[in-house]
Amino acid sequence: MKRRETLGLLALLLKAPDTLAATSQASIVAVRVWPAQEYTRVTIESDQPLAVKHFLVDSPHRLVIDIDGLELSPGLRELIGKVKADDPYITGVRVGQNTPTVVRIVLDLRQPAAPQIFTLAPVAAYKNRLVFDLHPKFEADPLLALAQERDKKPSAAATPSPTQRAEAAASAVNDALGDLIQKIERPPAPAASAPLTPPAQAASKPAPVPAPAVEPKIDRLIIIALDPGHGGEDPGAVGPSGLREKDVVLAVGLKLRKRLQTNPNIRVLMTRDADFFVPLQDRVHKARRVQADLFVSIHADAFLTPQARGASVFVLSDGAATSAAARWMANRENAADMVGGVNVGAATKDANVLRALLDMSTTAQIKDSLKLGGEVLGQIGKIGKLHKAKVEQAGFAVLKAPDIPSILVETAFISNPEEEKKLRDPDYQDELVDALASGIARYFAKNPPMARKRSTTL
Ligand SMILES: [Zn+2]
Repeated sequence: MKRRETLGLLALLLKAPDTLAATSQASIVAVRVWPAQEYTRVTIESDQPLAVKHFLVDSPHRLVIDIDGLELSPGLRELIGKVKADDPYITGVRVGQNTPTVVRIVLDLRQPAAPQIFTLAPVAAYKNRLVFDLHPKFEADPLLALAQERDKKPSAAATPSPTQRAEAAASAVNDALGDLIQKIERPPAPAASAPLTPPAQAASKPAPVPAPAVEPKIDRLIIIALDPGHGGEDPGAVGPSGLREKDVVLAVGLKLRKRLQTNPNIRVLMTRDADFFVPLQDRVHKARRVQADLFVSIHADAFLTPQARGASVFVLSDGAATSAAARWMANRENAADMVGGVNVGAATKDANVLRALLDMSTTAQIKDSLKLGGEVLGQIGKIGKLHKAKVEQAGFAVLKAPDIPSILVETAFISNPEEEKKLRDPDYQDELVDALASGIARYFAKNPPMARKRSTTL
């Protein structure tokens, strides 16, 4: 009996520091702002979870956030200086001690916003995070944005020689890509492909086989979704000298967009074109909203040992992963949402849609993805080592659009010092872009896109 009491007291004593900590004030670890056209995120990282209330005020538009149990500190004041002059959503920040225990943050808004405010439990290198995502109240139409992309002619070349030379090289590659796509050699024709063969043209050619072997003219746009991995709060893997995966893959993605887009038949949708985080599910969503013909996710990951090297290409698997390494990589990539920070509350409203999506048969998608992956792997193999000579399969969340051939390219291991150096090198990035573009072109050459209702004049 006595012994039990002692134990009880001991437990109480052991518990005491915890209880004390919970009642003491939280302190700020860091504040970060991630501005992007799509949404601006503000993150306040603290050693304890923060309790928060918020409300919107009109004319002028502002978001008021009250954080309970916090004292104004220099760390929090840093927020003021972190908002950039060109932030699409925030024009300014004010912080003040509203009551002895409540700090008030006022974000002055450039436009009416639909804020999402949520907290994230500690994960990876992060402690508790309080996140404000400022989304536009009226969302832009992604197809319209793609159409406008065409008018932003990069060839208007404001910048002189080195850039112009690079662009000339890029358009040369693209002409080749365009040629390839235009000169698609058709397999000896199952007649179903009528929309690709205008009847007039078909009649004018002599036909050795019942279905005339004509060069099909692609009379519609091809939309390619490029998906630079990670971003914003999620740096992805970090190389031994500090190179971040999210930066490299964005650079490669933007270069690849430029290269592909000099072909007038191609539009590129970037799931992200700046340093901000996009949840995995949103990446798939974005591609499906514009009915992309392809989805290419670009990565440069780390592995357990610094010796690991070479590029790999992955597609979705409908069962077990093709290797333990592939499964490991998929788990790693699928964890991006935890680090990047997803608003689970907002995501659940799409939960049914998502479930339906994932339940759909993916056999055809996987078959096409393997073809695309094979072409891309073949081209990447020409510029460097491959980690595996075959396309691997595993359950990557980002490859789950049931109707879009989707691949994930691990361009190299950023954890390998030599490969990190290559990834940093703009010339190597260009080679990589060439290889990816050729792989994509070869895929379209062998697998012409089906006709569909979208007009070429998008
Ligand atoms: Zn990655």
